[in-house]
Amino acid sequence: DTPLDPPTEPQHGEGTEPAASAALLTVRGLRKSFGSTSVLESIDLTVARGQVLALIGPSGSGKTTILRCLNGLETADGGTITITAEVADATQVAATPGDPSLAGTAITVDFGAVKGPSDKSLAALRDRSAMVFQNYNLFPHKTVLENVLEGPVVVQRRPKAEVTAEALALLARVGLADKTDAFPFELSGGQQQRVGIVRALALRPQLLLFDEPTSSLDPELVGDVLRLIKELAIEGWTMVIVTHELEFAREVASEIAFVDGGTIVEHGDPRQVLRNPREERTRQFLHRLL
Ligand code: ADP
Repeated sequence: DTPLDPPTEPQHGEGTEPAASAALLTVRGLRKSFGSTSVLESIDLTVARGQVLALIGPSGSGKTTILRCLNGLETADGGTITITAEVADATQVAATPGDPSLAGTAITVDFGAVKGPSDKSLAALRDRSAMVFQNYNLFPHKTVLENVLEGPVVVQRRPKAEVTAEALALLARVGLADKTDAFPFELSGGQQQRVGIVRALALRPQLLLFDEPTSSLDPELVGDVLRLIKELAIEGWTMVIVTHELEFAREVASEIAFVDGGTIVEHGDPRQVLRNPREERTRQFLHRLL
């Protein structure tokens, strides 16, 4: 394995047709309000292992909130999120006693539970995904390498020597071998975002979440970051990507979901949704972008 290998290869070939059970991410009836404003109505999503879901839609429609709920940065008000791993991980083994939601390789967090989700199940869910932010969100007073080590060493408590070797290999892979001791302000936006991506990969997540990963970049830096994300998709990483780059979404996504007003208005094959949308709201949105 190179450090960039996703947790498991996507299953292709005879006799390995993905079954429903190959879903890595399953979201059912996810709801979220801020005060009296309902932001997510009832979101259902399924992403199979090795697949890429692109979320498109107008500003304020709830796309970022979906990602933040998946990553545990927001706590949903209702619904369930399940993330399945091929093998139970350390967090889960430690958390399993007395918590049936953590008993298998699937972690399910039920936000509608009377007592709310347990801290353990939320922590376990959080550990399975990693987010790449629009504004990179690097620690400004830490070097590139320290930024990458923080999560795996401090939060996941993995051995520092092992994580450092992995982090250096990942940074070299994205062309940043000579920037490991630089601070974020010394880097271009494109370089900062590549650090953001390496930081997510170093967490060894099942699921990568991208929140408009190129919308803060100068136009000439967008291509490099999109190419890196596309490479990760080809390598079999499972991803959910919020993006306004429709051409990129068409190339990289297995499925596109159009989000409007806190609901998924339609979803399907990228070409179908972009070229021949079923819903009038999707048509209007796409028309405004052209
Ligand atoms: P998108 O990513 O599609 O632009 P968001 O998920 O960021 O949409 O936001 C959806 C709605 O939720 C917006 O109306 C936004 O103003 C609101 N919202 C998001 N976060 C908060 C928050 N922390 N407090 C109050 N309202 C919020």
